[in-house]
Amino acid sequence: MATANTSVKDQMSPARSSKPAAAQPMQFLDLKAQYATIKDELRQAIDSVFESQHFILGEEVQRLEEELAHYVGVPAAVGCASGSDALYLALLALQVGPGDEVITTPFTFVATAGAIARTGATPVFVDILPDTFNINPSAIAEAITPRTKAIMPVHLFGLAADLNSILAIAREHNLAVIEDSAQSIGATYEGRQTGSFGLFGCFSFFPSKNLGCAGDGGLITTTDPQLADRLKLLRAHGSRKKYQYEIIGTNSRLDALQAAILRVKLRHLDAWAKARQRHAASYRVLCADYALNEVLVAPSCPTHSTHVYNQFVLRVPQREALRAHLQKNGIPTDVYYPSPLHVQPAFAYLGYRQGSFPVAEKASEEVLALPVYPELTEQDQDRIVSTIASFFKSQN
Ligand SMILES: *Cc1c(COP(=O)(O)O)cnc(C)c1O
Repeated sequence: MATANTSVKDQMSPARSSKPAAAQPMQFLDLKAQYATIKDELRQAIDSVFESQHFILGEEVQRLEEELAHYVGVPAAVGCASGSDALYLALLALQVGPGDEVITTPFTFVATAGAIARTGATPVFVDILPDTFNINPSAIAEAITPRTKAIMPVHLFGLAADLNSILAIAREHNLAVIEDSAQSIGATYEGRQTGSFGLFGCFSFFPSKNLGCAGDGGLITTTDPQLADRLKLLRAHGSRKKYQYEIIGTNSRLDALQAAILRVKLRHLDAWAKARQRHAASYRVLCADYALNEVLVAPSCPTHSTHVYNQFVLRVPQREALRAHLQKNGIPTDVYYPSPLHVQPAFAYLGYRQGSFPVAEKASEEVLALPVYPELTEQDQDRIVSTIASFFKSQN
């Protein structure tokens, strides 16, 4: 067969095999590198789902829910279609809706406030802390009104928000806490996993998260088994028995294929977090050299927390110049987030303006994320560090 011949010849052609492999350009996040390390395990898991031809919910999803409930340290977990839906379903389970207010941070991915708005409730933004980029508890206390129903802190970049203070405020005012743990799976606070402190913990399995699937996926952990039951109704059309609908729900289920993939990856999650922490430690050594004059400030990590570095985010007043220098030298960076949510057109109806949250606004101007994925090589990291150092040397 001509095509088969061509492809075999192609693979064997001396022009290809003798050419030294060109150095791969550095990636900000190299998912292929991770795939290469677990390919066989993943293929096996995927094959077994195909053999079963059972694709929606089912045993794989149930097992993943059990394993993640155990990992996070809560009685129950409920898979769903995305991290965005995890937040949305948690709010629906609490019957948050029009007329209600939910307090959150403007310095986060859009889905946090988007989920609140989707229920018809009002997102109420409060400013962040400059050192952790996480929500400022004293600002939460000031924003509480009789309409406040919940607080939605985000454990941004993989570091827990100030949970003790947030939980104390929530208790005092009888508010639910819904943790946006999309970036923090595996991160601990006083020895316990994020996602286990509030009434709900909401996780995302978007491919760039520390535990990523092969598409979209999400999960809600809860400390209340009755609420878990309600979440299961909500994610599947309000139905427990076929063609019987107890409440209005939606279709937000997790696929068996995604669950099977996630169960494989969960076995590696802690090792991957350790690799991210090693990279962060090397970056910190560099930052220590430049921190005195505050030209390069490493992200803070309070001693009672473990950071899982979904992103390693520096604060750099000369961000644009450093970013351009890195780009010129083939080093990819990113900015999370270039503009806080309160100044985005989608949230203009809330009536905030530039100046409403100065700490978040300043962070947006100064943050710079460096590659920190587990498989990042030592050579690549050395190159990143020396290129940053050369930028600051050329400044003197
Ligand atoms: C990724 C993310 C989400 C949304 O998750 P999806 O699975 O992409 O819907 C929500 N909040 C934060 C903070 C995130 O980083």
